[in-house]
Amino acid sequence: MILILLGPPGAGKGTQCERLVERYNIVQLSTGDMLRAAVAAGTDMGIKAKEVMDRGDLVSDEIVVGIIADRLDEPDCANGCILDGFPRTVAQAEALDQMLADKGLKLDHVVSIEVDEQALFARIEKRAAETGGARSDDNAETLKKRLGVYHEQTAPIIPHYRNTGLLKTVDGMQEIGKVSESLYAILDE
Ligand code: AMP
Repeated sequence: MILILLGPPGAGKGTQCERLVERYNIVQLSTGDMLRAAVAAGTDMGIKAKEVMDRGDLVSDEIVVGIIADRLDEPDCANGCILDGFPRTVAQAEALDQMLADKGLKLDHVVSIEVDEQALFARIEKRAAETGGARSDDNAETLKKRLGVYHEQTAPIIPHYRNTGLLKTVDGMQEIGKVSESLYAILDE
């Protein structure tokens, strides 16, 4: 099963991914996690990405498309994966379509987690407190920027998937367990 989870920063994609990974025995491919690992490792790509990520902007399409193309070839993806935080632009969505076609794979589900954006500020503050500020982009100022980028660059991919008939939505303002159940109902269909 190949699944895309969409939603603004703080919508709960990461939390839900953990549950889906276990239930469906698939892997989570988070471009954000992979970029943070590159930053921590101090690679050339990580050094360049850090500045962009700290600003709340998007890393170039070319970099993230390359990361995902390589990662999809790894043996642990054989049973499927959840794309978390990718695609984030129309160009990435188009590159993904092409990449999956080239690899003989197909997308099974695209689910958008819908949330009240005012609530996101409190959530991100909570995540920053719980993780001891591990993410340098978890603060109100950068979140505002990340939300703006989400609306400008990522939300336009929603019609792309609506046109394919794959798009479903879940209410991300429910309690965590209920959001999971809504997701299971879609994925178990
Ligand atoms: P996330 O953990 O998904 O919130 O991503 C954190 C940051 O990593 C984003 O604000 C971007 O700077 C960068 N990033 C993650 N995924 C992508 C992507 N698909 N395209 C471009 N930049 C990304």
